[in-house]
Amino acid sequence: MSVAQHTLSQEAMALENKYGAQNYHPLPVVLSRGEGVFVWDVEGKKYYDFLSAYSSVNQGHCHPKIVSALTEQAKKLSLTSRAFYNNMLGKYEKFTTEYFGYDKLLPINTGAEAVETAIKLCRKWAYEVKGIDINEAKIIVCKNNFHGRTTTIISFSNDPVARKNFGPYTEGFVKIEYDNLEALEAVLIGNKNIAGFLVEPIQGEAGVYVPSEGYLKAAKALCEKYNVLFIADEVQTGIARTGRLLATCGNCSCETKNCEGTPDVKPDILVLGKALSGGLYPVSAVLADNEVMGVIRPGNHGSTFGGNPLAAAVAIAALEVVRDERLAENSERLGIIFRERINEYIKGSTICKLVRGKGLLNAVVINDSEDGDTAWRICLRLRDNGLLAKPTHGNIIRFAPPLVMTEEQLHECIDIIINTLKEFDSE
Ligand SMILES: *Cc1c(COP(=O)(O)O)cnc(C)c1O
Repeated sequence: MSVAQHTLSQEAMALENKYGAQNYHPLPVVLSRGEGVFVWDVEGKKYYDFLSAYSSVNQGHCHPKIVSALTEQAKKLSLTSRAFYNNMLGKYEKFTTEYFGYDKLLPINTGAEAVETAIKLCRKWAYEVKGIDINEAKIIVCKNNFHGRTTTIISFSNDPVARKNFGPYTEGFVKIEYDNLEALEAVLIGNKNIAGFLVEPIQGEAGVYVPSEGYLKAAKALCEKYNVLFIADEVQTGIARTGRLLATCGNCSCETKNCEGTPDVKPDILVLGKALSGGLYPVSAVLADNEVMGVIRPGNHGSTFGGNPLAAAVAIAALEVVRDERLAENSERLGIIFRERINEYIKGSTICKLVRGKGLLNAVVINDSEDGDTAWRICLRLRDNGLLAKPTHGNIIRFAPPLVMTEEQLHECIDIIINTLKEFDSE
């Protein structure tokens, strides 16, 4: 690396450090280009991307079909606000509700906004349909959840870094242990004011915690028994990431055969974001059937950018790519290979304790304390070896490449990961 080249990265990082709020701690690599499963840094070094912008880029970086939808629509009309109709929104709503099997969609921009939308929708349903006393509604959430960064959402987080000194906090949430049906039923039995149960089908940010087989289906059944809305936050797990179109795999148009034999859970409220646009534009959505979505009336909720024609065009293209390229199927197939090979390696490893996940949402647990720095150092070494990943919570590394990866590429990546981990085995 020449001195001049070295300067490009250093300069970019120095600018962010000097002029940007320090609300992130990025891995030191400065990216300037992406295509498919690859990204390039400003010095021209090529990497496999194993984060996919937290599972936003499931369709691969700069997918030509989505880029084309974006640029074509950008030339015609980008934003009208919802003060007027536009010719793309209805088309997008029809396409997406049919795709996921719901009556209605509420368009919004980011994941956190979509979760906020789901919370408001659930509360309004609770007062107007279920008949809970005014301001008494409670929503059950899980310990170690991650649903975004707004004031309300961090109110029910238990991550001190996300939460501390941002109070006063929003009320109306009850926290239970994840993957614990007894805990769920105990709250449901004891409280007539429960409006909903908000859950991640796999806890991604917490470290890719996959619940026990049948948990989601049984939790949904409990919600039905107590007339409580089951709200699935599939912002990270959705859109083919876990080897199914949705990790809850509800009534969807997913035509891949691999849905057979899995629990058929249809959330009352489905929250989507991230890969809904393939990473080209912030697009999120809340889906529900008429009985629930019907409580929302003009003026109750909205966003200037929500439902804009550019987002609509991009999201249709992004969902078409997932279906046409059978990304759910590819994700499931490659995920099995990934876990098989890493498990084989783990048998003889001292640094790596465990691999877990579903489809191409996986995590490797490093033999270090939660506040240790081994996972960070492994990620730096992976970077040097041409693969980008990031630790979640100290000793866990998430591996989530774009779903357009080929089997040959995956094997090359697993070689890089195993060889890098081996360097630490002998440390
Ligand atoms: C990323 C994420 C969010 C928040 O999405 P933003 O677009 O960052 O606001 C919410 N829920 C889950 C499960 C996520 O992974």
